[in-house]
Amino acid sequence: MPRARRSLVPVPEYRVMRCPSPPAVDGWLDSPCWRDANWVDRFATESVDTPARPARAAMLWDETALYVAMKLGEPRLARIRAAEDAPEENDNAEILIDPGLEDTEYYFIGVDARGVARTFRIVLDNFGTGGWREIVLPDIRAAARLAGDGWQVEAAIPHASLGVPPPGEGALWHGNLCRNDRAADSRAFWALSEDPAYAYLEQMLFPALRFCEASAAATVAIHVPGHEPWPSRPRFGLRGFMHDTSRGSIVYTPDYWISRLPKFRDLGFNAILTYFENHLRYQSHSSFAPEGSWTVDDLLRYQAEAARLGMDLIPSQTSLGHCPGILNHPDYRHLAEEGSDGYQFCASHPGTQEMLAAMFDELAAGSSSPYVMINADESSFLGDCPRCRERFAGWPRGHILRQHLLFLHGVLHARGKRMMMWDDMLWLYPEALEDLPRDIILLDWHYGHERHYPSLAAWRGLGFDVVACSGMYDVRNPFRLGDHACQQGAMGLISTLWEEHSLFIGHYWQHFAALSWAAHAEAPDDLENWYRRAEARVFGPGGQAGEGRLGRSAAALFNASRSGYRRPQASHSALWQKAARQFIETAWTRLDAGAVSDLGREWLEEALYARRLLLLRARAEDPAGLAEGEPRMIANEAASLKVEGLARWKAQSGMPSQREAFLEHYEAIEKSVNS
Ligand SMILES: [Zn+2]
Repeated sequence: MPRARRSLVPVPEYRVMRCPSPPAVDGWLDSPCWRDANWVDRFATESVDTPARPARAAMLWDETALYVAMKLGEPRLARIRAAEDAPEENDNAEILIDPGLEDTEYYFIGVDARGVARTFRIVLDNFGTGGWREIVLPDIRAAARLAGDGWQVEAAIPHASLGVPPPGEGALWHGNLCRNDRAADSRAFWALSEDPAYAYLEQMLFPALRFCEASAAATVAIHVPGHEPWPSRPRFGLRGFMHDTSRGSIVYTPDYWISRLPKFRDLGFNAILTYFENHLRYQSHSSFAPEGSWTVDDLLRYQAEAARLGMDLIPSQTSLGHCPGILNHPDYRHLAEEGSDGYQFCASHPGTQEMLAAMFDELAAGSSSPYVMINADESSFLGDCPRCRERFAGWPRGHILRQHLLFLHGVLHARGKRMMMWDDMLWLYPEALEDLPRDIILLDWHYGHERHYPSLAAWRGLGFDVVACSGMYDVRNPFRLGDHACQQGAMGLISTLWEEHSLFIGHYWQHFAALSWAAHAEAPDDLENWYRRAEARVFGPGGQAGEGRLGRSAAALFNASRSGYRRPQASHSALWQKAARQFIETAWTRLDAGAVSDLGREWLEEALYARRLLLLRARAEDPAGLAEGEPRMIANEAASLKVEGLARWKAQSGMPSQREAFLEHYEAIEKSVNS
C-alpha cells in the first residue's frame, strides 16, 4: 500500500522525462538522452551566508530504472575528498528518493568522486524520526568522472532495487538531490523553487517527482567545442618554442626534430630556438661536447629543413652563466669565474673572449637566421676573481655585464645578426642598460600564471624589441602572457621546454596547443571547452571513441594538480590518481579505436607513457603506504614500462651521458617499492 505524502506548504514539482534509450552510466554524461533531460542548475545551501557552488542535475526514467546526472562545479579538484579510508567523510553526490513505500521514509544513495555508492534505507519506525539502516540496494550502478570544471556523477537506480514497479505516466514520487560539499563545509540542495517558505533540507518537503511518458525533444542547439575552427591569424611575428638541447635526459637527435617539423608548422609556429650549453660540437672548440652531441653542421642541416617549411631555426648558445658542461672540462677550467664552481665564464680572462668569439662567429657564419641567442641569464658571478677586481676596479657589476654584452654584440653584428638575450640580468643590474644597442632583442621569461607582466612595458618603453617567453608548466601561462605581450607590441611569443626527465614531447601536447592558441587568439574564457578544442586540434575527431573525453580528462588532471596534490593528504593523492587513471583510460580507448590523427598518434602514445610512469611513481610513493602485494605489482608494471620507454629513448635520443637521468623516475619507483 503506497504511502501518500502530505505537506503543509506547496512543494515544487520536477518533471522526470522518459528516456528513449538508456544512458551509458559511465559518468561522462555524454549519452544523447541527457541532452533532452530537464536540467536544473539551481542549488542552494541551508545558510544564506554560504552560496552554493555551481551545480546542475537532471533525472530520467524508463521501465527499468531511474537515472540521475549531477555536475558539480569545483575549480580545485584537489579539494575534493575521495579517500578509501573513512568513505563516510568523502564529498558526496546524494540522491534521496522516496517512492512512497509504507515502511521507508526514503532511500539515500551517496556517490563519491571515486564512483563508489553507499546506500541507506531510512526506516519509518517513528514518522519523521526514522532510523538509518545501511543496506545493499542490489544492481545500483554509479560512476563518477573528473572534469576540468568539477566532477560529475551518473547513476542508474533500478525500480526493482527499490522494491517498486516501474512508475508510469503521471506517477508521483518524492525526492531530492544534494551535494555534500566538504571543502565548502556545506550541503547544497537541488533548489527547484525560489519560494522562501520552502526549506530544502527538510525531508518532509522533498520536491515532487512527476513521471512523464513524453521524451522531450532536444530544444537547445548542441554546442560541440571541438568542431569550431582553431584560430589561425597570427598575433606575433615570431611564434614558436625553445627546446633544451643540453640538460634534458632526452637530447633529441637533429633527425628527430627534422621529422617532426611539419607538426609544429601545422600548429602555426614559425620559430624554434635550440638551447645549447655543452652539447654542440664546434670546429673551433669540440672537446667539451660529449659523445652523441650535435655538430654545428647538424644544426645547420636542421635549420635548412626548417627554412624549407618557412620556419626560422634560431641558434642559442650560453655565453656567461649556465656553462658548467664547458667549464668543468679540463681544457676550459681556467676560464671559470672564481666562486662559480665552473658555472660561469670569467669576464676578464682574455681566453674567454677568444673562445666565445670563435664559437659565436662559427655559429653566425653558417646560419641563415637573422638572430643568434646568447642567453647570458642568471649570471651574477661578475668581477669576483683577482684579475677581474684589478681590471674592473670601481665598476658596478652592470658595467662588467655590459662590456661582455657589447663584445658579443660586436661579434654578431659583424656577421649581420641581431643578438637575442634573456632580460633578467638587465633587470638586476640596470646600469648595464646605459648605451646598450637597441637592436638587441630581449627575451622576457614569465613561467607563472601572473596578474601582470610589468617588464614587457618597461622594455618596450626603453626602446627594446621584446619576445615574451612562457614555460610548459601551467597551461594558462601562455594565454595571459600572450594577451599582455600583444598589448605591448611584443615581436614574439615563445614557449620554453626546459630540461625534463623521462617524459617525451607528447607529454607536453597541451602546452604546444596552448602556445599555438595564444600566438593567434585571445585567452579562452572556458578552460574545459578549450581543452576539448585542443584535443580535436591535436588528435583529430574522436568519433565513437568518445569525442571530447580525452580533453576533458586532461582538463581534470590539470584541475586536480592545481592545489598541491603532492601534499601528503590521502584525499589529494587519491583524486589526482583518479584523474590520471581517467586520462590513461581515455587515451587507451582512443588508441585502440584507431581514432587519432597521424600527426597526433605519437604524441598520444607519449602522453600515455608519461601518465603511466607518473602514476606508478605516485603510487609507489603513496604517503599512506602500500597494501600487501602492491609493491610487486608496481615493480612489475614499472619494469615493462621501462622497456617501452628505453626503446623510445634510443630511437629519439640515445645520448649515452643522459641515460642515467632518463631512468630517474624508475630508480625512484624501485627505491620506494624496495624500502
Ligand atoms: Zn674573473
